[in-house]
Amino acid sequence: MTKLKSYLQDSVLNKLYNEIRAAGSIRSISVDLTHVCNLRCKGCYYFEEGMDAINVPDEKAFDEFILNEKERGTNFVTIVGGEPSMVIPRIKKVYDNFKCNVATNGLIKIPNEGLENLPIGISIWGERETDAALRGNGKRDLFGEALKNYKNDSRAFWYYTVAPGYANQIEKVVSTCIENGNAVLFNYYSDLSGLGNKHDYKAGFDEVRKEIDRMIEKYPDKILMTPSFNKVISEGKLFDESWGYEVCTNLSTNHESNFERFDNGNPYNPHFRAYNADFSSTRRCCTGVNRDCDSCYDTWEHFSWVMVNLKKHLNSKEDFTNWLTTMYLFYFINRLVGQDGETNMIDIQNVLKQKTDIVHHQQVYV
Ligand code: SF4
Ligand code: SF4
Repeated sequence: MTKLKSYLQDSVLNKLYNEIRAAGSIRSISVDLTHVCNLRCKGCYYFEEGMDAINVPDEKAFDEFILNEKERGTNFVTIVGGEPSMVIPRIKKVYDNFKCNVATNGLIKIPNEGLENLPIGISIWGERETDAALRGNGKRDLFGEALKNYKNDSRAFWYYTVAPGYANQIEKVVSTCIENGNAVLFNYYSDLSGLGNKHDYKAGFDEVRKEIDRMIEKYPDKILMTPSFNKVISEGKLFDESWGYEVCTNLSTNHESNFERFDNGNPYNPHFRAYNADFSSTRRCCTGVNRDCDSCYDTWEHFSWVMVNLKKHLNSKEDFTNWLTTMYLFYFINRLVGQDGETNMIDIQNVLKQKTDIVHHQQVYV
């Protein structure tokens, strides 16, 4: 019996695995839906590297882009930008043709009608004052506005980016989001504009990681993160690999700058492209043009790192469980599984809690 088959003797793992298989494999891209944004956040990767400097296309180019990507076999689109909610008709076109999710600052409400099953990640960078200082020159209560727009909206989850020195704000932000009727996924601040001190990623995310783990314990049904995945992102380690360009899996496969990387033998997502807002050119990766990869703690990119590396996770049932729950988490966040209400975040956290048993049973299975 192969190791995979032996792990799948476990009925719970089997169920999660089969749900993912039934949902099908993902052939993903990212696209900047527009080069315009109604904010200028400090450390936004998009404007830090001038990704908005594009030839502005007409709508025909966007329609052609959709047709071309369908023909190429794309079935999943991460919608970024710029601020996607400034071009809602384009969100609708993507939604009608692909599985997708959208990242928004939450200031313009994305309507429910016609977009009922759209996963919406709303960015938040800290408590009201911290968030407003980093993202709105302290003048607007951005958090408050977004909370109002997405109150009890089951499509919405918060994409909460935490800087190393702000672990003490996590509980308050999380409880506010949960009281608003939404779930929370975490991201880790990169400080691309060089604010330093409490914002500096070089200070490490130990305290942030511990606090996120505590939130998982406290709100297992509302935190879209597992302890093992939290560790992978915050420490940048996956077994013998350290996160960085040479192992990065979400690189534009048609972009010349990446061709050498693809020859180094490390796995990558063979379909992926990060499209600019001209809807034809691509860049190195979704979150970078020439940026130093040491600064990259992007949760979405780390999902791919884990998901593409099944082989590395086959040495023990515990490792496989970490892979499977991360994979399931991605599918769950994006509403590709779990929509029948049969499996939820508590089930996923419970699977992980049984790790002690799993390590014990491993001796039997492998
Ligand atoms: S809202 Fe998003 S795209 Fe706009 S400046 Fe802030 S981080 Fe950048
Ligand atoms: S910045 Fe881009 S290329 Fe570098 S590690 Fe992150 S996703 Fe990969």
